[in-house]
Amino acid sequence: MRIVLATSNKGKVKEISEFFGELVVPYTDIIDSFEIEENGDTFASNALIKARAIYDKLGCKDIVIADDSGISVPMLNFEPNIFSARYAGIGASDKDNLDKLISELKKANIKKTPAFYTAAIALVCKEGEFVVHGWMHGNVIDEARGNSGFGYDPMFIPQGYELTLGELPTEIKSDFSHRTKALKLIVPIIEMIKRGRS
Ligand code: IMP
Repeated sequence: MRIVLATSNKGKVKEISEFFGELVVPYTDIIDSFEIEENGDTFASNALIKARAIYDKLGCKDIVIADDSGISVPMLNFEPNIFSARYAGIGASDKDNLDKLISELKKANIKKTPAFYTAAIALVCKEGEFVVHGWMHGNVIDEARGNSGFGYDPMFIPQGYELTLGELPTEIKSDFSHRTKALKLIVPIIEMIKRGRS
């Protein structure tokens, strides 16, 4: 039984593969990457859209998991939220999106303000569909510091720390990130499916 990861985002593949070890296979190792329209209005619905799209292509033996995630800044009306991957426009790079969020903070004269990451992990398999969530709270600052992690990490300072996720060792992020918290919730669901199939 394979656990197939419905993403080609390198940062997510790295973090999820580190969590599960060799149990997971990115779908791009099995079939060619293809465009999936993420037209849901929540992280959960977009995660399900991605997981279903890959499950439909691969067939019923696999367990497919997808991550939809992003950052929300309450002082900016919770932007960019589900639009985190396309904050600077369709096809924007991680760097474009990071620069855009920094420029929005500067425009609003904000040097540091609370923010949080959300991860929705959807699991689709022949037994059914499941979605779990995890969050990580902290602050965003109006500059990028460090090169660890990906996406908005260089401007995000987790609660209880002085440094950004770009500056902190990656093991610290993987201890309590939004993604790790959601993945920990998906583990018992995978165990239950495995027991049912054995
Ligand atoms: P998705 O692939 O449509 O879920 O888009 C996720 C967006 O949120 C991308 O722009 C990521 O860079 C950003 N994002 C999600 N999780 C993280 C994280 O753990 N660190 C930094 N950025 C993240």
